[in-house]
Amino acid sequence: MENIILGSHVSYNKNEGLTGSVKETLSYNANTFMFYTGAPQNTFRSKIDEENVKNAQKLMKENNIDIKNVIIHAPYIINLANNKDEEKWKFTVNFLKEEVERAKKFGVNKIVLHPGSHVGLGVEKGLENIANGLNLVLTEEEGPIICLETMAGKGTEVGTDFLQLNQIIKNVKNKKRIMVCIDTCHIYDAGYDVSNFDAVLDDFDEVIGLDKLGCIHLNDDKNQMGSHKDRHANIGFGTIGFENIEKIAYNPRVRKLPLILETPYVSKEKDGTDRSYPPYKFEIEMIRNDKFDKNMLTEIRNYYR
Ligand code: FE
Ligand code: FE
Ligand code: ZN
Repeated sequence: MENIILGSHVSYNKNEGLTGSVKETLSYNANTFMFYTGAPQNTFRSKIDEENVKNAQKLMKENNIDIKNVIIHAPYIINLANNKDEEKWKFTVNFLKEEVERAKKFGVNKIVLHPGSHVGLGVEKGLENIANGLNLVLTEEEGPIICLETMAGKGTEVGTDFLQLNQIIKNVKNKKRIMVCIDTCHIYDAGYDVSNFDAVLDDFDEVIGLDKLGCIHLNDDKNQMGSHKDRHANIGFGTIGFENIEKIAYNPRVRKLPLILETPYVSKEKDGTDRSYPPYKFEIEMIRNDKFDKNMLTEIRNYYR
């Protein structure tokens, strides 16, 4: 199969820094990766070690990982849609500004951001708040691009369809620095039939424009289309299914985009909760070989045990 740009979410911690993230990526035989610059659920961020970043970039070069395909995911507690508390909203805008600066230090060009939840303010107001916030963040002409992620529609999430995302983009002044990240689990949950991915891309192209598609989160789904649940499944073990995932991964219209797996870790025992193992090495192998392995979960447990 052709060489696609395929990787996964990897960990980042202040001790091992970006070099640790690259090493983890290499252990999965991936050629790209996505990371949070700290804990995804909080906004505490440690100082970036420049020496470590240099080493990481060297390691990437040596292993043909193009940093242009590397993604930072902004912490998911960031909610630009909610401005009920003005101070909190300003803090959020500032945090995102700092996140952009951190991305620059890492040399990373794309930041995935959840648009947010309107928490009762209404979709319209939520979308307006997001665009206003982004305009305060994207003040410099050049710099990392923010990719708005398509959301499943849990609770009061906005950005659940291409029209809503386009409404944000329309109101963002710096068009160069705004794109979209399609999450396959999320759009399926939101009601898009990903088994006909070309039709989804046609729709995206008509509403937003395919040149605005910046990356793809490649996940299977634990629930049915339109369920709004946001529960990711391992590749081939969910309702989207292996064949459809393959059709998405190898669709020529997304050939140059990074594909990032955010599938769940596999627990040690079928019902155990004490330890779990990353599925990415195995999922990447299946996708690249175009061959589903129904025993994958057992093999993962044996491999990491
Ligand atoms: Fe996300
Ligand atoms: Fe995602
Ligand atoms: Zn999700």
